[in-house]
Amino acid sequence: MPISFDLTGKTAIVTGANTGLGQAISVALAQAGADVALVGRSSMAETETAVSAAGGRSLSIQADLSSLEPVDRIISETVAWTGRADILVNNAGIIRRADAIDFSEADWDAVMDVNLKTVFFLSQAFARRLITEGKGGKIVNIASLLSFQGGIRIPSYTASKSGLAGLTRLLACEWAAKGINVNAIAPGYFTTNNTEALRDDPDRNAAILSRIPAGHWGQPEELGGAAVFLASPASDYVHGVVLPVDGGWLAR
Ligand code: NAP
Repeated sequence: MPISFDLTGKTAIVTGANTGLGQAISVALAQAGADVALVGRSSMAETETAVSAAGGRSLSIQADLSSLEPVDRIISETVAWTGRADILVNNAGIIRRADAIDFSEADWDAVMDVNLKTVFFLSQAFARRLITEGKGGKIVNIASLLSFQGGIRIPSYTASKSGLAGLTRLLACEWAAKGINVNAIAPGYFTTNNTEALRDDPDRNAAILSRIPAGHWGQPEELGGAAVFLASPASDYVHGVVLPVDGGWLAR
């Protein structure tokens, strides 16, 4: 069999698809042939247009992922659309910045709820359906360099993304034999809303840039290839990895 990155006939769910990395991943999956359910709390208009321009089809699902309310609905609305759900990209995430010594319970809980709790229960709902149907599928979690490193001033973010790496490995171990691949991508420093505060600080911006072997901030499109790989048959024997896409940051 030739190696295949083709997603024709597959349906993907991407959370936080309205902007940034989620938007770029949605477009990349559509370019590879997938129908894409765009999930989030903001208007998906920009991503709908980009997916359509890439020759793909999308469905927008309104969902605030800070609670578990939308979890079952996301799966059922997707399946009502195309009759299937093959790929889940857990991309939505938030970050709160403050010194650990001052960090609030509210900032701890908000980040853990979106970045970890909802990811787990959405993955569970997705996998339950696949297992009931006796089908395989793909889960791609969007982790971070903070899945490997400590960072500063982002305690709940580091805890959530380090937890997500562990969760990726656990789910891979439980579900690999069911034909479900669970993997993660660890983006380096990409130009999105998430990193605006860093880019706006001249000292932090220069320090970050000087450490990236590739010499530039990642552009969201530069994440698409890894997402397509982990969503496609080409990665069928890949389970439980956290794949850095970071311009060489972790190799430094
Ligand atoms: P972003 O532009 O801030 O996008 C975050 C996405 O998550 C947005 O679509 C946002 O929706 C969505 N989201 C947040 N809270 C939500 C909620 N309660 N319900 C529904 N959607 C919610 O940042 P990004 O860089 O693209 O981030 C995407 C993922 O990559 C995140 O998990 C982030 O931690 C991770 N990441 C980013 C970088 C980087 O350098 N940019 C590096 C490592 C990891 P709204 O627009 O409505 O807020």
